[in-house]
Amino acid sequence: MKKNLFRLLIFSIILIILSVHSESVDNDLLIVTGKYEVKKQKNFVNLKDFQIPVQGKDLYLQVEVAKALQKMFLDLKKEHPNIEFWVTSGVRTYWDQKRIWESKWKNMGKISSLEKTKKILEYSSMPATSRHHWGTDFDINILENSYYEKGNGKLLWDWLNKNAKKYGFCMPYNENRPNGYHLEKWHWSYKPIATRYQKKWNEYFYQKKITELDFSGNEYFYEFAPLYVNSINPDCL
Ligand SMILES: [Zn+2]
Repeated sequence: MKKNLFRLLIFSIILIILSVHSESVDNDLLIVTGKYEVKKQKNFVNLKDFQIPVQGKDLYLQVEVAKALQKMFLDLKKEHPNIEFWVTSGVRTYWDQKRIWESKWKNMGKISSLEKTKKILEYSSMPATSRHHWGTDFDINILENSYYEKGNGKLLWDWLNKNAKKYGFCMPYNENRPNGYHLEKWHWSYKPIATRYQKKWNEYFYQKKITELDFSGNEYFYEFAPLYVNSINPDCL
């Protein structure tokens, strides 16, 4: 009898370990594909609780990213009180990205689905492939490359290029990549966490776990998604 009880106990412990493990794996899948509710993710925080200027309300990032970003912002302010910096976009879920994608799709005019897909992919990700799903990436100030060539934009750009890596940040969509999205000087990423998600995304992709892709042009997902996810600045890998 005692032996049976002992076996039952061991069996239960194994079951608990397995369920905890599979839960954490699934949550990574939800995060890398953006299919989660931000407020229910325990590592995600609203930037309003940090000393980080934001445009708009309810911008979320992972807590470690927010802390690093706050440190970087406060150091920037100490060194250059006149340089203006703010965050315009943080976490976007699968459904946020789908809204962006579909609205661009609708306005593409009379071109083929393949041409629409390629055109939108110049600057926007397919849902389930955006780094904004991960809580590690954010957009700053103005979403135009020319803004970073003069005035406040240029001062900020020069400072970030020199200093951002000290805080863990890099710019995934830099110049001179043969493939992927166009240059985005406004998009920054927190490397210590993002590299892990990048690997995870690829694992899930090749295991065919990224499913239920209900957006226009989804027939091109398998052809384009890995190319765009992986065509990033080597400094971010
Ligand atoms: Zn972005």
